[in-house]
Formats: sequence, structure tokens, C-alpha cells
Amino acid sequence: MSRIDPDDAAQQPTPVVNAVDVGRTYRRGQGGLLGRNSDATVVTALDTVSAAINRGELVGIAGPSGSGKSTLLHLLAALDTPTTGRIEIGGTNTAELSERARSRLRRDHIGIVFQRFHLLPALTAQQNVALPFIEWGVGKTERHDRAELLLHRVGLGDRLTHRPAELSGGEQQRVAVARALAGEPELLIADEPTGELDSEAGANVLDLLADVAEDRAVIVASHDQAVLDRVDRIIRLRDGQVVSDA
Ligand code: ADP
Ligand code: MG
Repeated sequence: MSRIDPDDAAQQPTPVVNAVDVGRTYRRGQGGLLGRNSDATVVTALDTVSAAINRGELVGIAGPSGSGKSTLLHLLAALDTPTTGRIEIGGTNTAELSERARSRLRRDHIGIVFQRFHLLPALTAQQNVALPFIEWGVGKTERHDRAELLLHRVGLGDRLTHRPAELSGGEQQRVAVARALAGEPELLIADEPTGELDSEAGANVLDLLADVAEDRAVIVASHDQAVLDRVDRIIRLRDGQVVSDA
């Protein structure tokens, strides 16, 4: 004999990020050469995608090129809002926020890592990691101390004064992860983070992401099987739809 325990629902954790029936279309050809809108075509990049992601999960987003991985990541990172459905981050619907409030939400809750590291070449590793702290008004000594701690955390305590060109690809990506962790985000999002790396460097970055996923949610889009072998759960996309989530 079992009955529904009303406490069960209440005990469900609020997902760090929750996509509910999310769709995203893009207009292509709009404006054309002669500014005519009539031949604009609508591309459906995502179609009714739902997924809830919790703290402690390392989730892979898989699928062939063009299946909607980057589009989904941009929505989950609140860089973009869906055309239909909704994205909730910590229970807040991202589409209901002003641009400014959405940018504050990203700052307070989300770290983002790109395929091509996006480090500033003229700055040292430590200065690159300290950049977000400048934006947040953290004083010089404190931001340098915090950047140093973050670089130690990603295994680069001995590379503080190296510039990106003096670091390997894998080291540059770990600097980018350190910078993404500056705000202690509960959600870390990485789009093809190993795409530019050889397999050993890629494995190191994955070790790092698995490590930081212990107390946050980490979502990694990749079509690299070595990455997908390491995650707790894979959401597979095809033509903008979820074909499996396990
Ligand atoms: P993936 O990251 O899996 O390769 P994307 O999310 O980048 O896939 O793209 C999904 C689909 O949406 C593709 O058909 C792509 O061409 C289209 N698309 C992505 N971004 C845009 C855009 N800014 N304008 C028009 N179409 C886009
Ligand atoms: Mg992509």
C-alpha cells in the first residue's frame, strides 16, 4: 500500500536551472540585400525542450552540429531568452527580467566557459582571472589574492604571471574556468570546452569540471565522446529536440 506523500513534492530541490517547453526560432534572410523582409525564413533551432538540472550534476549536451546545443546553452546561461516556453534560474523566469536584471542574474549565479578561452592576450593569467572582480568593484589587493586562490584551485598556482601565449591550450582553458568561477556561481556552463584541446589536455579540463560540479551544476555541450563518457547525465539533441535524457 502506498499513497502519495505530500511532503515528497516539497522535498524536491529547486533545480539550479529548469527549461520548460523551450523553443527558440531565428529569422534568417531578414532584411536581405534590398531590405525586403518578405523572403525571411524562420529557422527552428530548438523545439519544446524541457530539462531540470540540479546542484551536484555534471550534465552533457550532445548532438550533431546544428542540433541546437549552443542555442540551448545560451538560453540556460540567460544570455538569450526563449521564443516559447521558459527558463527558470533559481526559480526566476529569465524572460521576466529586464536586460539589466538578467545581467545581474548572470553575474551572481552563472559562470561561462567558451571553446576559444576568450582570455585577454596582454594580461597575465592572474590579471585575466581578476577581471570580473574589477567589474564588481573589488579592491586591487583583494582581487589579486582571490585570483591567485582561483588559479591554485585549477592547478595553475605556478603560472600566475604567464600570459596566454605562454600557456598551453589546456592551461588557457583552466584559466578561463578559474575566471568563470570568480563569482562562485551555482551554475557553470561550457560550450565545447575541449574543442581546441588535445585529448590529454581535454581530460584535465574534464577532471576540473567534474571536481567543481560537486557543489554546483555544470553543463557541458560537446560532441566529443571522451567528454560524454565522463558526465553523469547526457541530454541528446537532434534537430532541436531532446531525443534522450539519461
Ligand atoms: P549546435 O551548437 O548544436 O551546433 P546551434 O545551436 O548553434 O547548434 O544551431 C542550431 C540551429 O540554429 C542551426 O540550424 C543554426 O544554423 C541555427 N542558428 C543558430 N544561431 C543562429 C542565428 N543567430 N541566426 C540564425 N540561425 C541560427
Ligand atoms: Mg555549438
